[in-house]
Amino acid sequence: MAQYNKPLPVITPESREFWEGCKRHELLIQRCKDCGTLRHYPRVMCPECNSWNTEWVKASGRGKVYSWMVAFQPFHPAFFGDVPYAVVMVELEEGVRLTANMVDCKPDDLYIGMPVEVVFDDVTEEITLPKFRPSREH
Ligand code: ZN
Repeated sequence: MAQYNKPLPVITPESREFWEGCKRHELLIQRCKDCGTLRHYPRVMCPECNSWNTEWVKASGRGKVYSWMVAFQPFHPAFFGDVPYAVVMVELEEGVRLTANMVDCKPDDLYIGMPVEVVFDDVTEEITLPKFRPSREH
């Protein structure tokens, strides 16, 4: 594994399960055990009914581009070689939105509604990042 010099996510008690899932190459999202509402990012309380009863469910990993941005300036020295690169907000089939890097796609080819699927990048021993690429199911 090549040395990874970019900033890494900070694992919190609320997000630990999510990152453990990523290490297993599973995209997990939280579901309220009382009202069934799915939510992402991970947090302790359901935004719909204020319940603290939470379970984790495996998402399909499929979704559509809801929005995106393209970085033309590196905001950290480790990104000098990457610009321009795209960060997408994906609306998963399950209905929640997740922000991640886009891979295997030129920024100019992105469009709203583009079908995408998750891929997992094992960047360190501890951290695996979910990323999205154009769907290969078509
Ligand atoms: Zn709820």
